[in-house]
Amino acid sequence: MNFRRQLALNAYYYGSLPLRAWCKKSRGAPVCVLFYHRVADANPNPWTIPTRQFIRQMKWLRSRFELVSLEEAQRRIRLEWNDVPTVSITFDDGYADNCDSALPWLIERDIPLTYFVASQFVLENKAFPHDIAHGVRLSPNTPEQLAELAEQGVEIGAHTRTHADLGKITDKAQLRDEVLGGARELAEMVGRPMRYFAFPFGLHENMQAYVFELARQERWRGVCSAYGGYNFAGDDAFHLQRIHGDPEMVRLKNWLTVDPRKVAAERRYQYQRLACSTPSAAVGAISS
Ligand SMILES: [Zn+2]
Repeated sequence: MNFRRQLALNAYYYGSLPLRAWCKKSRGAPVCVLFYHRVADANPNPWTIPTRQFIRQMKWLRSRFELVSLEEAQRRIRLEWNDVPTVSITFDDGYADNCDSALPWLIERDIPLTYFVASQFVLENKAFPHDIAHGVRLSPNTPEQLAELAEQGVEIGAHTRTHADLGKITDKAQLRDEVLGGARELAEMVGRPMRYFAFPFGLHENMQAYVFELARQERWRGVCSAYGGYNFAGDDAFHLQRIHGDPEMVRLKNWLTVDPRKVAAERRYQYQRLACSTPSAAVGAISS
């Protein structure tokens, strides 16, 4: 971000503090779910955050929010009102570099985290296409690393087999293979069943209602998107809207303290009420 934009965003951030306070008064404190990809100092790319910057963010978060598991985040969303600013940390894809500093730092401090992994890259030890397109082959985690993380209390979550854009797949068998097949492979690696799923890319156009149906059938606890959105008490707790863990501190602060512009522009992904839903699940499925 250039200096001018940083200055403008800082001015907006401080200028809109009264509006942010009003927002908190009217909707309660948000339950934010952050997603990161890779914490590393070598081979930077748009989805990498330097270790020092990541730790700076974690320290800032710890001083202002309660850092909780996805399960606890969902419990707070199901409340009628939440007064406690809350953040849950997640990671996507499964990069080996995360095991160097970031994950041990979080685990040592008992900060809960959910780690969404695309299974095939781990099983075949191959680089992600988006990294190859960017000119660098980055190592995925190994099955042993994932098993150890699970052993240390990290929630391992499913993120498809091949990191496919599920919004483009029309064949249900292929969707099941990506979603359920990926979850099964991970469950075998870590020795415990998957409970959460995150859509690769995670924008509206990358999502499908059928995947929510599959997740319900599997009795998973929740599904994550990644288009940037808040969760407030009373929202649908099954669909967790996530916010990017932006390396720019001012942008992250702007997001997490509830940007009134973003609240006004928010468009929650809608999926249909499901025949297989439990009554409480159905309420979640139709809330906006
Ligand atoms: Zn991903």
